[in-house]
Amino acid sequence: MQFIDLKSQQILLKDKINKAIEKVMSHGQFINGPEIEELEKVCANYIGIEHAVGCSSGTDALLLGLMALDIQAGDFIITTPMTFISTAEVISLMGAHPIFVDIDERTFNLDPQKLAQFLEKPVDAKGNGIERERIKGIIGVDMFGQCADYAAIEQLARQHNLFVIEDGAQSFGASLNQQKALSFGDLSTTSFFPAKPLGCYGDGGMVFTRDGHLANKMKQLRNHGQKTRFRYESIGMNGRLDSLQAAILLAKFDTFVNEEISKRQQIANRYKEQLAHIDGLSLPFELPGSKSVWAQFTILTSHQKKLQSFLKERGIPSVVYYPHPLHLEEAFSDLDYQKGDMPVCEEYVTRTLSLPMSAYLAKGDQDKVCQSIIEFFS
Ligand SMILES: *Cc1c(COP(=O)(O)O)cnc(C)c1O
Repeated sequence: MQFIDLKSQQILLKDKINKAIEKVMSHGQFINGPEIEELEKVCANYIGIEHAVGCSSGTDALLLGLMALDIQAGDFIITTPMTFISTAEVISLMGAHPIFVDIDERTFNLDPQKLAQFLEKPVDAKGNGIERERIKGIIGVDMFGQCADYAAIEQLARQHNLFVIEDGAQSFGASLNQQKALSFGDLSTTSFFPAKPLGCYGDGGMVFTRDGHLANKMKQLRNHGQKTRFRYESIGMNGRLDSLQAAILLAKFDTFVNEEISKRQQIANRYKEQLAHIDGLSLPFELPGSKSVWAQFTILTSHQKKLQSFLKERGIPSVVYYPHPLHLEEAFSDLDYQKGDMPVCEEYVTRTLSLPMSAYLAKGDQDKVCQSIIEFFS
């Protein structure tokens, strides 16, 4: 059994994907080929947002966003300690300081109440006051495919004059109160890393925004800040999406939106039914109005390690996302966070376990996962 079954999808879509690849091979525009704009249109149209900017990864999508928002060294940006490193890494790369605010114990996403408390009296990890003008924005993360509570986050952002970025690397295809993921905030970013809900066969990402000025800026920035041929308006990067990856995503897109999203939701529902009412196991919590795309199906148990090895002995893979809270990572040691600063997140990492999940998870395999878990807890 695989943790994420990419092979079944590949077999199913093989002809379509091969044709798409051959087309790029024959026109030969491997960089800035027509597939980029086509994919941007298709994705923007699906999400219902004006502008999409394809780029080289979910990490670079965040970086392009921060560059376009003109983040300066010494600025402060708020985010969650329970996310992939990229979300906080890009803040530091810009010379700015990440501020971590603890997670909601039900959703594992940024806790708006704690965010409000922080904004009442902003202090750094050492307890020193932070100048309000230096706090520029909030990056919310849609962990495991469920949107963060953007109604609350956006309201706080408006009150305090902050921008909001939605890190939707895990949430392409999700929605919150009928509004699609990646349509929240001033801009939103996603990743097409192969294991994400919509993945390519390499690295890829995209930024979305309603702001045409920001979109144009990011289109320049992803191409070295080039305005016209060999004329550079700003310092940019090589952050482009490859034509081949865009072509692969276009070949996968219809199946993803028309079939895979609902299959993921069915599989999640099956997990919820079969694993209901087990003492010592908590199922994922969904905010009212939230429709996760189930990038991961993640349970909580105080027997995390034991359950993981019990499953492994039965040939069932599982993963701890993530085993270490970011605020305690060595890379952020200069921020001086201490153990105990983010109690919810610190406890969460000892209890979380993600189960095999993909649109192609076979019923028999899923039954085996569930039966093994039931056996473990009895
Ligand atoms: C995967 C991921 C990223 C980074 O995406 P890459 O395409 O691997 O650079 C950023 N944020 C979150 C929340 C992710 O899960």
